[in-house]
Amino acid sequence: MTKRKKRRKKRVRLGQEQKFEVQKDFHVNFPSQGTKKFNFPFYRLIIPSILIISISIFLWRFFIFNPVKKDSSFNVLLITLDTTRADRLGCYGYKQAETPNIDNIARKGVIFTQAYAQVPLTFPSHCCLFTGTYPLYHGARNNGTYYLSSDIITLAEILKAKGLITAAFVSSFTVDSRFGLNQGFDYYDDQFRKGETFKGLNAERRAEEVFISFKTWFEQNYFRPFFIWVHFFDPHLPYDPPSPYKEKFIANPYDGEIAYMDFYVGKIIEALETKNLLDKTLVILVGDHGEAFGEKGEDGHGIFLYEETLKVPLIFLAKNRLPSGQVIKTRARLIDLMPTILDFLQLPSPQQIHGVSLLPLFKKHKLKDFPNYIETYFPRENFGWSELIGLMKGPWKYIKAPREELYNLKTDPGEKINLAKDNQRMILKLREELNHYLKNYSSSLAQKRQLSLEEREKLRALGYLSSIETDSTSDYPDPKDKIEELRLITQAELLEWEQKFDEAVKIYEKILTINPKIPTSYINLGLNYLRLGQPQQALAIFQKGLALMPGSLLLLSRLGHTYLALGQIKNSLETWQSVLALDPENFDALVSIAWIYSLLGEKETARKYYEAALSIEPENKFVRKNLAHNLATSGFLERAVAIFESLIQEFPDDYEIWQDLGIAYGHLNNLDKAVECLEKAVNLKPTPTAYYNLGVAYKKKGELAEAIKYLRLYLDKAAGENEEKIRSVRYEIKWLSQQIKNKK
Ligand SMILES: [Zn+2]
Repeated sequence: MTKRKKRRKKRVRLGQEQKFEVQKDFHVNFPSQGTKKFNFPFYRLIIPSILIISISIFLWRFFIFNPVKKDSSFNVLLITLDTTRADRLGCYGYKQAETPNIDNIARKGVIFTQAYAQVPLTFPSHCCLFTGTYPLYHGARNNGTYYLSSDIITLAEILKAKGLITAAFVSSFTVDSRFGLNQGFDYYDDQFRKGETFKGLNAERRAEEVFISFKTWFEQNYFRPFFIWVHFFDPHLPYDPPSPYKEKFIANPYDGEIAYMDFYVGKIIEALETKNLLDKTLVILVGDHGEAFGEKGEDGHGIFLYEETLKVPLIFLAKNRLPSGQVIKTRARLIDLMPTILDFLQLPSPQQIHGVSLLPLFKKHKLKDFPNYIETYFPRENFGWSELIGLMKGPWKYIKAPREELYNLKTDPGEKINLAKDNQRMILKLREELNHYLKNYSSSLAQKRQLSLEEREKLRALGYLSSIETDSTSDYPDPKDKIEELRLITQAELLEWEQKFDEAVKIYEKILTINPKIPTSYINLGLNYLRLGQPQQALAIFQKGLALMPGSLLLLSRLGHTYLALGQIKNSLETWQSVLALDPENFDALVSIAWIYSLLGEKETARKYYEAALSIEPENKFVRKNLAHNLATSGFLERAVAIFESLIQEFPDDYEIWQDLGIAYGHLNNLDKAVECLEKAVNLKPTPTAYYNLGVAYKKKGELAEAIKYLRLYLDKAAGENEEKIRSVRYEIKWLSQQIKNKK
């Protein structure tokens, strides 16, 4: 074995499935709305007048006081505008906006000027929207590490049960089906990059792709009553709109992302108009949270509970059913969307819902502002700083933090004066009310998954028993006191985006010197080392982080990936097993463990893990390819062929699939199919494996001259192949030539 080959064998990387070993008898190789006096009797007039007035009052009341007509036959189109600040849209008064489509919907519909999220984070916020409950109840507190319980009743589930076809087109991994938001959807498109093995936490796709996916589905399903959810993620960091928005908004790319997104909001509305369905559809445009631009030291969202990141756009449109051009200034919350939609469709809301129908507001009923519970666990879980919880009530916003905050939003909408010290009475009142929320709105679903005793023991044995059990008593710093660190983190992230990894490394190292308990910084630092081609340093930094935060799922996962990349299979397997102990449905762990077992030749165990992974992400190409390969090499050829055949429909340019399919058909003695598939493989990429197996197939067909031709082509490309195999092919060619001569 050459030196190069030895190194290749040691550096095992996913995506390079090992080929079957060749058998001697020529088979093999596989890799997924005045009075006057009159001279006639007055009574003759008075009766008709009363009638006219009555009718007028009736009509007036109907149109003015009751401009809402609920309609259970309406379709629902929900478009969530990720990271979109209301004050950056034209309809909310922003002069520099280029949002004609959103503004048009607002002009014809109803616009809420005081709409609020409960959490300034994508996944928890969408969970509030889709369940009508506070995070205290639905339990999704952060991105990436929580699941929406299958016990919860979602909007999609109710609409599906009503008989609507339900479809979602999402654009960020944070709302991937694996986290449970797909509940109740007949179709849930969360494919960001087709064919990618592991979806990164940052995985996203542009509005154009989301639109294309929507359009394709819509053309085939528009004639059925529908509930469609389209999620646009473009305004999220990094701000990088495509041309021509890139050039047009060079000074403010965030506005450019919104303008770009608006274009596709327009295309979706156009698609509905084309099918005459806009008049029969309740359209809702809503943001999941806002975005901060350094106003209070934060860039982005998630850390604080200020107006910049909690206030969202909210627009309703239902032609001839809801008012047109109405502006509502009463506070609305994302948790009110589900009960509003259900009320409009004349469906009852489930009991546990915390939100209320907003339809009485459309009828100009004066209602008091609804209180709003708000929270973010992002600072605690990602940076080791205190979580923030709070309550918005009347004009007040109370934030419970190590240093409490109280703002009067009516007199101080910019939250510049913290009244906490001067208004202790209000603080006491709101604190008590907040406790009431915690006590009465929480559910058992809100708990992070509890570890079983066995799992705890396993983690302890591996040295990975987490701080998750002990940390609740520790004092966490107030995020307000961490502004400088936050600025450094933002700076490092920007450098990463600009691909200046060396400089990013220096800043992350500095951050960790200031605060060694920030899991995210260990991960980012390690990832930068990996990008710089320094895997050993990455390994060291992940291990260092884990020594301080032994239960960090994020760090464990990164460590598992890195061990694998370095060929340290045993360490990788152990690490991934501890990830599974913490999170039994961790896709990356399941796939990596399957891969490792297949390397170890334990096919049956590998297959179990591939099947578990496939139940989480059925569209995953890598898993399907490898499962099929596993099945083929374990003698389950028909099942393997079925998977390869479905893969080839989606990935017709993947030579490996054609090759494996051809080989599988060869084993099934379907030689015509074998030859057809292998020839396609050879046209895409002439590999020794394909030539060899073509030779074998032709030999089996009795076409000896063709067999010789392909075996020779194999020999031409055989450098680096097994010596014994090469020898046997040479011998085979001789023997076949002899057979031809003998026939003559
Ligand atoms: Zn978001």
